[in-house]
Amino acid sequence: MHEPEIPHDWQGQIASRIATLGQLEEYIELTSGERAAFEGEPVLSLAVTPCYAKQLSHPALRGTMVPSEHEKEPGSGELADPLGEEEHRVTPHLIHTYPDKVLFLATTFCPVHCRYCTRSRMVGKPADSLSLFGQTFQYIEEHTEIRDVLISGGDPLALTDSVLDGILSRLRKIPHIRVVRIGSKVPAVLPMRITDELCAILRKHRVWLSLHFIHAAELTPETKAACRKLSDHGIGMVSQTVLLKGINDDAQTLTDLFYGLLEINVKPYYLLQCDPVHGSARFRTSVEKGIELIRSLHGSISGLAIPQYVIDAPGGGGKVPILGVEQIRREGEDIVITNYEGKEYRYPDPGS
Ligand code: SF4
Repeated sequence: MHEPEIPHDWQGQIASRIATLGQLEEYIELTSGERAAFEGEPVLSLAVTPCYAKQLSHPALRGTMVPSEHEKEPGSGELADPLGEEEHRVTPHLIHTYPDKVLFLATTFCPVHCRYCTRSRMVGKPADSLSLFGQTFQYIEEHTEIRDVLISGGDPLALTDSVLDGILSRLRKIPHIRVVRIGSKVPAVLPMRITDELCAILRKHRVWLSLHFIHAAELTPETKAACRKLSDHGIGMVSQTVLLKGINDDAQTLTDLFYGLLEINVKPYYLLQCDPVHGSARFRTSVEKGIELIRSLHGSISGLAIPQYVIDAPGGGGKVPILGVEQIRREGEDIVITNYEGKEYRYPDPGS
């Protein structure tokens, strides 16, 4: 198998993304089932940066990037918008679910398309322009109860420096905004994007990064160097890891990842139960398994390396930290959880 030339700059990597069956087969051999996934209209298109595609021989990373023939069939309880974000959309780019926090969807573009993406309904659609953000800034200015803005998408770090600087400058002019966070998988899938210029922008605006990592195999020398550069520039970093069946759902795999993250100054923050998005059944563990895993880490690894295990309550109930089985109630194929407002939400979980 002949691997194509890989561009070294981040724009070149984006321009050369693997987006077709033929391009993917230049990196890995596919099974007949995987080839079948390319027939008909996909729910989420294929997208992998060439530098990440080089790692697809690792089964964990392959499992999250290569489409499956099963993902077109919505399973029981699965939804196109599992977190009910659309019901809380207050401007074309803003979701307001919690009283003091907003989710700013700055772009629909993402360098890679994870097959379990919660926002597969919008990721990969044409990007919007900064001029359309006026309503969003106005809403944030008028709502003085908002303290915390999480910029997400898509992946905001795939925006150009000038667009990102423009968004952050505008947000930082709003006196009641105290925290600005960016959600990104870029250090794992496009580490050359972490330039000194980008770091200077993030530092100038005192941005926290919430980084998406799922496996220690993502911690390549380039990714470690990118995170160390961010850390050297004083950027605070936490990680979010989605718990994925057959990919990272064992204590040793999680331990390796969490210690690996601490070594590059990224604090493991959330271990997220996989959202019940359309076609996600193959990725979802039972909640009981998640509890068992997080409990096994307590007492066996450094407390600093242990994230909080959370379920994002389907339908917009927000994140519910899960510490033990006493917090959940099984009703048939659903797990019932209670959010910070005392309201009950159901997570579809057929069990293991
Ligand atoms: S990196 Fe995040 S936004 Fe992009 S496809 Fe993966 S889960 Fe979705």
